[in-house]
Amino acid sequence: MAHPLIIIGTGLAGYNLAREWRKLDKDSPLTMVTQDDGAFYSKPMLSNALAKQKTAAELPMGTAEKMAADLNAHILTHTVLTQIDAANSSITLDNGQILTYSDLVLALGASAIIHPVDGDAADHVFTVNDLASYSRFRQAILDKRHITILGPGLIGCEFANDLLQAGYQVSLVGPSSQPLDRLLPTAASNAIMSALTAEGVDWQLGTTCRAVHHHEDRLRLHLDNGVQLHTDIVLSAVGLQPNTALARQAGIQVNRGIRVDRFLQSSAAHIYALGDCAEVEGLVLPYVMPLMNSARALARTLNGERSIVNYPAMPVVVKTPIHPIVVSPPSSEQVGEWRIDSNTDGIMACFYAEDERLLGFALTGRRVSEKQRLSKLLPPVLT
Ligand SMILES: Cc1cc2nc3c(=O)[nH]c(=O)nc-3n(C[C@H](O)[C@H](O)[C@H](O)COP(=O)(O)OP(=O)(O)OC[C@H]3O[C@@H](n4cnc5c(N)ncnc54)[C@H](O)[C@@H]3O)c2cc1C
Repeated sequence: MAHPLIIIGTGLAGYNLAREWRKLDKDSPLTMVTQDDGAFYSKPMLSNALAKQKTAAELPMGTAEKMAADLNAHILTHTVLTQIDAANSSITLDNGQILTYSDLVLALGASAIIHPVDGDAADHVFTVNDLASYSRFRQAILDKRHITILGPGLIGCEFANDLLQAGYQVSLVGPSSQPLDRLLPTAASNAIMSALTAEGVDWQLGTTCRAVHHHEDRLRLHLDNGVQLHTDIVLSAVGLQPNTALARQAGIQVNRGIRVDRFLQSSAAHIYALGDCAEVEGLVLPYVMPLMNSARALARTLNGERSIVNYPAMPVVVKTPIHPIVVSPPSSEQVGEWRIDSNTDGIMACFYAEDERLLGFALTGRRVSEKQRLSKLLPPVLT
């Protein structure tokens, strides 16, 4: 019997690839492996589920059994990939099983970076990057009032917005002087900062959390700048790092992510990667749009029509309805300047090259309505 296509990971990358591939090939064997329960859910919902009045249990759109039936796939849940043997086209699982593949796709995602803290409650710091961790977080905040978020980036600000709208008090702690400083020009980050301040956010910026201690039935945070903060729950949202260890151990080229070319092919024959674990032509873009484009291209390649992935301009919607934001940041190598137009509706910040080409933008407030018009003017990210 033919060896199966094996996809490791049942996040948006793994399931979207499986779906796209099944549109082209209804019958060839497909095996999927995941260390979680294999439920299909939209990860972006984790940071706006409170506003959408959804519990963690209401987020899955399909169980692993349903997905297996829909995709005509064999799905191994609660099973961990422990080793890749590229020379023999096989993988080893934590239950000792060895499986041989025709092609192997790594859709392993990324892991939450753990900001190291001291203190007797250091192990009480939550991170949220999947359904199970989100479920634990939602359970923990049930009877609590004050949440401290470490990391005022995209995910931190989205959680802050969601918690504020659900009636929680929120402190945001981070080393930068402004929120979302890696994505937004100063004027736009000031706009979101003012809007969240008006809703009661307590900003602790220019500092980091050094220790978390139990204090009566609450927690006491010690910040590097000497401030002590009393809180009920600490949520760390300091960033994600692509899961590359297994690829590296197998001798596959790894940089920030698992390095793949425009065909999503790694340095090893018949091994591909996409989604949050992948670095496509030097780009690590941990968002849904890139993985959807990758899934469509890779499905064709796996079906025998070698196809490169194209990335159009892919603005990111920051889910902060208190003050909406859409941003398409210029890449770090692009040279140019931000021009800011600010009025009572919000900010329109455009990043122009010397030759007046638009290379990026950030829109806030009601000015997010300009997204479609400006997106059409942007160059593609990968053509
Ligand atoms: C709170 C939050 C909000 C977000 N909001 C947005 C948004 O609004 N818009 C947007 O574009 N993006 C957003 N993102 C990013 C987006 O959700 C991710 O880019 C996307 O979900 C990544 O999917 P993935 O399949 O690559 O990874 P994951 O969903 O992390 O899936 C990884 C899979 O690999 C499996 N796995 C890993 N290691 C092993 C192993 N050794 N053995 C077996 N299985 C393994 C896991 O079990 C899992 O099934 C958000 C992310 C977060 C955390």
